[in-house]
Amino acid sequence: MLETDTPGDRVARLERRLKRERRAREEAEWLLEAKSLELYNANNHLTVLANDLEMRVLDRTHELEVSRQQALFLAERDPLTTLANRVSFTRDLEAAIREARVQSGMVQLLFVDLDRFKEINDNYGHAVGDAVLLEVAARLRAICREREVPGRLGGDEFGVICVTPAHSERARQIAADVMEVMSRPIDCGRLQLIVSCSVGFASFPRNAVDSPTLQRFADFALYHSKSAGRSTWTEFDDTMAGELQSRQGLEAELRTAVAAGEIEPWYQPIISTKSNEIVGVEALARWQHAERGLILPGLFIPLAEESSLIVELGRAMIDRCCREMHPFIRDGHLDYVSINLSPRHLRSSSVVEHIAATLAHHHFPPSALQLEITESLLLIDFEQAQECLSRFRALGIRIALDDFGTGYSSLSYIRRLPLDVIKIDRSFARDISADQQAEAVVKAIVQLAQALELRVIAEGVETESQALRLTSCGCFVQQGYLFGRPMPLNEITRYLEARANPTPFAQNISAS
Ligand code: C2E
Ligand code: CA
Ligand code: CA
Repeated sequence: MLETDTPGDRVARLERRLKRERRAREEAEWLLEAKSLELYNANNHLTVLANDLEMRVLDRTHELEVSRQQALFLAERDPLTTLANRVSFTRDLEAAIREARVQSGMVQLLFVDLDRFKEINDNYGHAVGDAVLLEVAARLRAICREREVPGRLGGDEFGVICVTPAHSERARQIAADVMEVMSRPIDCGRLQLIVSCSVGFASFPRNAVDSPTLQRFADFALYHSKSAGRSTWTEFDDTMAGELQSRQGLEAELRTAVAAGEIEPWYQPIISTKSNEIVGVEALARWQHAERGLILPGLFIPLAEESSLIVELGRAMIDRCCREMHPFIRDGHLDYVSINLSPRHLRSSSVVEHIAATLAHHHFPPSALQLEITESLLLIDFEQAQECLSRFRALGIRIALDDFGTGYSSLSYIRRLPLDVIKIDRSFARDISADQQAEAVVKAIVQLAQALELRVIAEGVETESQALRLTSCGCFVQQGYLFGRPMPLNEITRYLEARANPTPFAQNISAS
């Protein structure tokens, strides 16, 4: 404070200070207000963000739940038809059996298999195939009542689980309904397709007391329907249980027999009717069974074909035929050996390499080997078969199409396949003496073969008159009981040695 300060000066100074302080307070208040507004805004913003986040979490949770449900649905359903897939079908079957056990109820299991569905896929493409499967699924669904589960078990295999009170015959009704609805034509755009199916069923506890056995029995009943010419239904019964058991016993024995080399080739002569000389032999498998005696391939080949046993059997046959026939080929008594190759064997890995190695091992000329294939093989995987056969051809091995005229004999297959020979099914030889149509068909087949530069062999020739008629149709190479039955090695050896001057196969054919 200055000594010269008057009271007025002091008041003025005080007022100025007060004013400064007021302004500072006002500024502070204003700042505070601004800050709280900022905070308020920030808070609001945060609330919006939090709400947004919460919404997003909710959305995402929902999405995840939907995908989880979808994944569950897909894991249980067949994606094409949305019927239960094999996994959930089997689980439902097990659950139904558990329940039926407690409640003394019954579970009937039906297997439904479309007949020759592969042909539809091959001839009209997969889109049409899918449309057929969808329609089949819809018809199956329509038949099923509550507590009946339809399922798609793979490819063209379907199933129905039906839970009923004890002693019900509901499965018969379903089987009959399935046959009926499936016989109606299916509209696929401009196409109308007729599909038939086979059905087999078995019941718990009437036939089987657990799920695997029930499935096996229903499958065996289905197999019966197929063997009975398809388009029918079969109920499993006790005689089939015995049959299945002896089949399984036989399969085990067959496995041992193949490994022990008890399956032996018998040889049937193939003759040129021009020269009356033997040109080749067809090797046919025979099983020398210690107790049952000689077993024919009709019994054991289909059994072997159900598993990879057919590959082992086929390999053993080729190996043994090459070894046994090599001397006759080498000495010019025989032009070739014809061996049946099962579809499953042809699809097995390294089949070409394996056969090439066997030939090399026995110094057996590839041009003296003819492999017989059937059309059923082509229906499974045409491209793969085509490729394999071309590789055999490149090695010099001849390919014959067996049982021609019995299957689908699609011309496009025959044209696109690397074939050398067509073997006319024995039903034509049987009918040719009595039936003019059979003769006309044989002539047509011979012409077709000539156009495609293929050779023909007529099978199943039993009488002179059949041989003559076939010859007059242009079929000069023949095989059948008339010329010789399939015979074991020692007999065919005598047969071959008795014939001195062999006529080369190629020469016979070219002369025709
Ligand atoms: P396939 O290849 O059509 O063989 C011809 C069948 O006709 C043979 O029956 C033969 O014995 C029989 N046969 C021959 N001539 C006549 C005749 O004049 N009249 C009549 N009625 N039948 C005659 P087989 O030996 O019982 O063979 C049956 C089928 O088993 C064969 O039919 C073939 O598909 C299959 N098979 C035979 N051996 C083998 C094999 O080693 N591997 C494979 N994958 N299948 C084989
Ligand atoms: Ca054959
Ligand atoms: Ca045949």
